[in-house]
Amino acid sequence: MFTKNIIITGGAGFIGSHVVRLFVNKYPEYRIVNVDALTYAGNLANLKDVEQAPNYVFEKANILDTDAMERIFNTWQITDIIHLAAESHVDRSILSPMDFVYTNVAGTVNLLNVAKQHWLKDGEADRHLFYHVSTDEVFGALGETGFFSETTPYHPNSPYSASKAASDHFVRAYAETYGLNTIISNCSNNYGPYHFPEKLIPLFIHNIIQRKPLPVYGDGLYTRDWLFVKDHALAIDLLFHKGKRNDTYTIGGFNEWKNIDLVKLLCRLMDAKLHRTPGESEQLITFIKDRPGHDRRYAIDASKINKELGWKPTVTFEQGLDETIDWYLNNREWLEQVTSGAYQQYYETMYTRR
Ligand code: NAD
Repeated sequence: MFTKNIIITGGAGFIGSHVVRLFVNKYPEYRIVNVDALTYAGNLANLKDVEQAPNYVFEKANILDTDAMERIFNTWQITDIIHLAAESHVDRSILSPMDFVYTNVAGTVNLLNVAKQHWLKDGEADRHLFYHVSTDEVFGALGETGFFSETTPYHPNSPYSASKAASDHFVRAYAETYGLNTIISNCSNNYGPYHFPEKLIPLFIHNIIQRKPLPVYGDGLYTRDWLFVKDHALAIDLLFHKGKRNDTYTIGGFNEWKNIDLVKLLCRLMDAKLHRTPGESEQLITFIKDRPGHDRRYAIDASKINKELGWKPTVTFEQGLDETIDWYLNNREWLEQVTSGAYQQYYETMYTRR
């Protein structure tokens, strides 16, 4: 008998697969129901090591499908949701914003509705939690100084961040209007194993391995905060169990990098790992036309989760990058599998017609 039956949406994606793995292994008393539509970003190979676990179930379903969500709620007597499923790539949101409206906004509202219908009718709302995983991009861009925190006003600039902002607002509204128990966390850029190679760090690792150009947007001076994905999963675990209900938390790595410096660091580390001449990979850096609406700088003040719950990153950037690069070098089959087919077409559209 399981003490909780938790849906994790988007569990076959990058961050979701780390959250699923952590919960399945750490909490054998919980049943984890991974709900994922397996879009281009979803990959069950990310979860090979847990798929046989007795407390793990996979449900291939779209979060927009109300009947499917109803069936899953009834079949598994769902007690909680950790919601990660989303269209997650800014560049794709610029190409096709409606996909982001459907999944990120309507999909989230559909899940909220199903949760509301099941959890509020028994009058025990406090026994349940809708945990919504979101991004720092909802806050817009920072100048040279300052940090995003829980009190920063929303100012989304891309179709992706606008869709995530809308979903955050709906979650908050369901807490206020209907009394659903919720938590929202807004996290900075993640990196680590199983990251789809359309995002900066895995894209550049992949291109360096293949000696392909490293496309850097604009002047390369865009600044991002980077957090190792396993530390994000640990923060989600902590907030799920101990976070204040109907509250929000910002999560970050205290680790800001200008894109160009990060790319040069990756080049140095990869040259050493691949026994190449120092400086060889840096020659691959190619500046390309800027992304429209590109936010200059993101940085997070994560002091609330640190002070209230003692969370802080467990690895340094160097340790996290080392583990990440080793993972990609040791899992070339995974990389080849995800970069074949549709990825090729997307890559051509994005990086070769400029
Ligand atoms: P991802 O793109 O790697 O994975 C998304 C997963 O959702 C995939 O498995 C995909 O198949 C699934 N999915 C997409 N649409 C679906 C639908 N309609 N129904 C069911 N499943 C669907 O994303 P990620 O990088 O792991 O991000 C996960 C969450 O964390 C997102 O909500 C994202 O906004 C948020 N986030 C990401 C980052 C980051 O750096 N990657 C940072 C902060 C917050």
